[in-house]
Amino acid sequence: MMAKFIGNREIVDYFEHVLQEKRLGQAYLFWGADAVGKRYFAYLLSRSLLCKNNVYGGCGECKACYKVDKEIHPDMWVYEPANSVITIEQIRTIIQRLRLKPTESEYSIHIVDSVETMRVEAANAFLKIIEEPPLYALIILITTVINSLPATVRSRCQRINFNRIAHQDIYSYLIAQGIDKQNAVIISHWSDGSFSKAMAMDFEQMKAIRNNAVAILRAMIERNQGESFPDFLPPGFKRDKNASSILKMNFRDIVYFLSDLIREAVYIKANNKSLHHPDIFNDMQIVANSREVDTFFSYLVNVEKMKEEYNVFHQDPLLLIQKLILNAHV
Ligand SMILES: [Zn+2]
Repeated sequence: MMAKFIGNREIVDYFEHVLQEKRLGQAYLFWGADAVGKRYFAYLLSRSLLCKNNVYGGCGECKACYKVDKEIHPDMWVYEPANSVITIEQIRTIIQRLRLKPTESEYSIHIVDSVETMRVEAANAFLKIIEEPPLYALIILITTVINSLPATVRSRCQRINFNRIAHQDIYSYLIAQGIDKQNAVIISHWSDGSFSKAMAMDFEQMKAIRNNAVAILRAMIERNQGESFPDFLPPGFKRDKNASSILKMNFRDIVYFLSDLIREAVYIKANNKSLHHPDIFNDMQIVANSREVDTFFSYLVNVEKMKEEYNVFHQDPLLLIQKLILNAHV
């Protein structure tokens, strides 16, 4: 089943080796970017330990594997923040559960997701667990922001760093799932190394978002040609009453596509072929031919600035887009 795990092969290999050598630790800290498979791997590792057929990653067919997948295995527990916090009550629950021996295996596995949300008192209670865990205990902490964890907790865990997944790995997976090549190229780049993001993607929605980004890019160019829009809104936005809220909901993705399309234009200028967006090559070629490379680079700088203004100052997306179009370098 480990073959299904995408990316981070060195972690898969490492734990296979550790299990073969019977050197599994008792407290691990899985850290790395959002949605790169940390939690999924924690489940696969649990299955490896609980599987009745002793298959690395789990056989996927026995009762134990089934129970892990459904989160109903009596020897495996998953904890998530309640109201955005891993509470001291949850930590106390772990302590209580660890007093009991496992019932269907040799392990008592406790997976704590978003562990960085633990407050000081919870962290202190937690330290007691990892200082002297019973032999059957396996604690897996999961976080995206390792530095938010108290150093005392960090230092007592073996840290496993999950990297972003290579575009090529996601691409291969999508192709294996029967997604056509053009779409797989776009999705794998858009997902930016996040497997869950690639999986959760609604392709029609993504294309709609990309169309908005194309419209904004065109507006930036046409502004230079003196055909500015009233209010400097890209076409499509001003017609829709809900434009502002749609823009807000999808702003990060629109910004992503905007940057990616500008790079696409630069690439087309140099190579006369598509980089990530073969399905709109003709449109992008017109965009590419309408400006010099330097201008596109100045667009990229402005998009980066806009991203920062949004992330840091939470400015209104619609205003930011208007400003971007207004400031498009001549
Ligand atoms: Zn199994």
